[in-house]
Amino acid sequence: MSTLAIRDLHVSIETDQGTKPILRGVDLTINEGETHAVMGPNGSGKSTLAYTIAGHPRYNVDSGSITLDGEDVLAMSVDERARAGLFLAMQYPVEIPGVTVSNFLRTAKTAIDGKSPAIRGWVKDVRQSMDNLRMDSAFAERNVNEGFSGGEKKRHEILQLELLKPRFAVLDETDSGLDVDALKIVSEGVNRAKDATGLGVLLITHYTRILRYIKPDFVHVFVAGRVAEEGGPELADRLEDEGYDRYVSAAAAAS
Ligand code: ADP
Ligand code: MG
Ligand code: MG
Repeated sequence: MSTLAIRDLHVSIETDQGTKPILRGVDLTINEGETHAVMGPNGSGKSTLAYTIAGHPRYNVDSGSITLDGEDVLAMSVDERARAGLFLAMQYPVEIPGVTVSNFLRTAKTAIDGKSPAIRGWVKDVRQSMDNLRMDSAFAERNVNEGFSGGEKKRHEILQLELLKPRFAVLDETDSGLDVDALKIVSEGVNRAKDATGLGVLLITHYTRILRYIKPDFVHVFVAGRVAEEGGPELADRLEDEGYDRYVSAAAAAS
């Protein structure tokens, strides 16, 4: 069984005012096939966690570890992380002038698998996944992220998820800016990837809405750079009713 393990992770960034600690000892273990929701107020460090797993150079790991089946993820380049089976939805947010979605997907697939996909099967897979996500075939010929709407960006992320078949996916606020129909389509895509390949998911979200469509096995409440509480799906229902205030005041009192 594959496991992504985060241990006592401390992360800071350099700002004009000096070093700013953001993550203050994060522990999380995700086994393949499991979905973990990380929920918390704005500014609690959720995206920092995602960027650190992705290997963004801005975020300095001061101590702690991230391992994938015992391999040191923090020692890997961004490309090596992808080849090891990590999928980071925010990894490709930039426009890539002159590179079509179709070319981008094939290049990424080739880089990750170490060989180019057999063309007929690949074309069929791309078409199938685009159909699943209700994407028009013309989308494949557009340049990556150029003029994409919020919804198109999210669908493109899930299209990558379906085709690249990673072992673990980190999805940071995949629900933001989606109307209900798009949210359903995107969630179905994540669920298909879970069913097809036993994908492990770290689902970062501020709101409980997406958890109606993607069922978490575990919920972690993230406050002030730490996991403040953990539980099963029922914890998300409680957050929906009570909000984060209780956790925020407890964290403030403790610091
Ligand atoms: P969340 O995703 O939970 O809203 P973030 O990880 O985006 O939280 O931010 C956590 C804290 O770190 C915030 O106080 C934010 O202002 C700060 N922070 C994160 N990234 C940067 C950055 N690149 N520059 C300055 N501050 C940052
Ligand atoms: Mg935020
Ligand atoms: Mg964020």
